Amino acid sequence: MGHRFLITGGAGFIGSHTALVLMEQGHSLLVLDNFDNSSPEALERVKGLANGQGSLELIEGDVRDADAVEHAFKSGGTIDGVIHFAGLKAVGESVNDPLRYWDVNVNGSRVLTAAMERHGCRTLVFSSTSTVYGEPQTFPLQEQTPTAPIHPYAQTKLAVEQMLGALCRTGAWRVASLRYFNPVGAHPSGRIGEDPLGIPNNLFPFITQVAAGRREQLHVFGDDYPTPDGTGIRDYLHVMDLADAHGVTLDHLLQQPDSTALTLNIGTGRGLSVLEVVHGFERATGITVPYSIVPRRPGDVPKLEACPLQAKTVLGWEASRTLEDMCRDGWAWQQANPMGYRRG
Ligand code: NAD
Ligand code: UDP
Repeated sequence: MGHRFLITGGAGFIGSHTALVLMEQGHSLLVLDNFDNSSPEALERVKGLANGQGSLELIEGDVRDADAVEHAFKSGGTIDGVIHFAGLKAVGESVNDPLRYWDVNVNGSRVLTAAMERHGCRTLVFSSTSTVYGEPQTFPLQEQTPTAPIHPYAQTKLAVEQMLGALCRTGAWRVASLRYFNPVGAHPSGRIGEDPLGIPNNLFPFITQVAAGRREQLHVFGDDYPTPDGTGIRDYLHVMDLADAHGVTLDHLLQQPDSTALTLNIGTGRGLSVLEVVHGFERATGITVPYSIVPRRPGDVPKLEACPLQAKTVLGWEASRTLEDMCRDGWAWQQANPMGYRRG
């Protein structure tokens, strides 16, 4: 039988793909989103793709607003679990405006969990990040690798992990903090995908916009890192693999009889350099991506690569999609929606 889940930030990139996976599994979803970085159109398309499976209701509101969160818990039936995607994620912005990050990411999580506690809903999946590891020296990264976040974005995510750990020690809570590596790509239909506002910060949407002719060339940030080709290495995973991981995590948490606190890396375990991604994209799509090497971007670390074994052991989840899948699906989304959700 389907469950009823609250999904904060469900209109965003990862949230929309996860919402679709959960609806296809027959669940009823309540999305709380203030559309700070997303569009209601994403949810309309999710409903279209779900094609009558599951259900989705929307509350437009801010996760920091206790009244809006209370309204979510009081509308309709019991909420069996929560996925908390709502948050801010731009590293540079977090350096310039740290208080906003502490407010949205940490205070938002506090308001949400306080409402969960009041309503006796203590099952939560939290969106954490591989950047909590800072600038690690030893690989692959295991969950017990010491954390050393180097910017406010990662610091706020780690603070929430710690707050949730403390809640679990009070008993009764079942929490999974998923440390995502680099989600990319889109649903294979090309109907939903990543829709950055303005100039993309991230590598993958920048590549697809260059390929589409929206931007002249890619700037590769540094080729003097201590990596085989000198460019930065990250662990890119298909957003549909990440969406699947959330479904599996909720199933796992709901089966736990006792308080549970999980912290899991969600990645493929295969790091790729910037140039490997560029050339993989060219192979998958047949399109040349012009690029030039420019100086390093401040705050970037040479390498992040998951050890994904714990997620496999505990959840039975592992990434199955390839770089080719990520490129093909991300490109299909870009081609079908050249201006994201704003047109077409
Ligand atoms: P996104 O910006 O596409 O989605 C976040 C959603 O939260 C958006 O729909 C936004 O409108 C909403 N939101 C923001 N502030 C809100 C608020 N105060 N109240 C209600 N809704 C609010 O980002 P995403 O890539 O889907 O990321 C989802 C989560 O995963 C974030 O918490 C992010 O920090 C985390 N994460 C993302 C990545 C990544 O590379 N995309 C990596 C690691 C962790
Ligand atoms: N990168 C790049 N050019 C860009 C954007 C990113 O060379 O326009 C590099 C960046 O230096 C890093 C990798 O691509 O090595 C991934 O960057 P992204 O911003 O996508 O993810 P994150 O920094 O969060 O890991």
